[in-house]
Amino acid sequence: MNDLEKLITYISKIPGIGKRSARRAALHLLKNKESLMLPLAESIKATAQNIRSCSTCGNYDVNNPCHICTDVKRDKSVICVVESVTDLWAMERGSVYRGQYHVLGGVLSAMDGVTPEDLKISQLTTRIKKEGIKEVIIATNATMEGQTTAHYISQNLEPTQVKVTRLAHGIPLGGELDYMDEGTISTALQARKAI
Ligand code: ZN
Repeated sequence: MNDLEKLITYISKIPGIGKRSARRAALHLLKNKESLMLPLAESIKATAQNIRSCSTCGNYDVNNPCHICTDVKRDKSVICVVESVTDLWAMERGSVYRGQYHVLGGVLSAMDGVTPEDLKISQLTTRIKKEGIKEVIIATNATMEGQTTAHYISQNLEPTQVKVTRLAHGIPLGGELDYMDEGTISTALQARKAI
């Protein structure tokens, strides 16, 4: 395998990118060697060397513990549980939440053979006891696996007597009722609030 073929193979291993996209990406990089390909190579190397996983929450940062865990202005009594770091980033983009995080590293899935031991669930229980957490907000995705995981965690946390809440599900902003499935409508109805 020559270097170009190797590059295409590596790119195609990135989730969401197939062989065809990988070939196009490799070609685009070759055409933009100075402005894109070499800076990208540098950036990949620097990221691999400098970015580490926070041993407390699972976020990625140059420091361990990460800037969120060490931020004195953030609420230390609330933990938001997310499936992955991309979900943590999504929550941060909202700029509303000012508590701590806990990244599970996936969701329970019988099909993919993911068990509670594969996720950071026991670490969550330990943190709740050690850090004196008052509320756990479960923000797993509204998929079947996400719901199962949320349910499992809330049951698992029952002995700790911590308050467990769940992000509301329902009609997205800008959404039209006519386009919603029954599941979304019934969940939104159950989660209705007084205005
Ligand atoms: Zn952290």
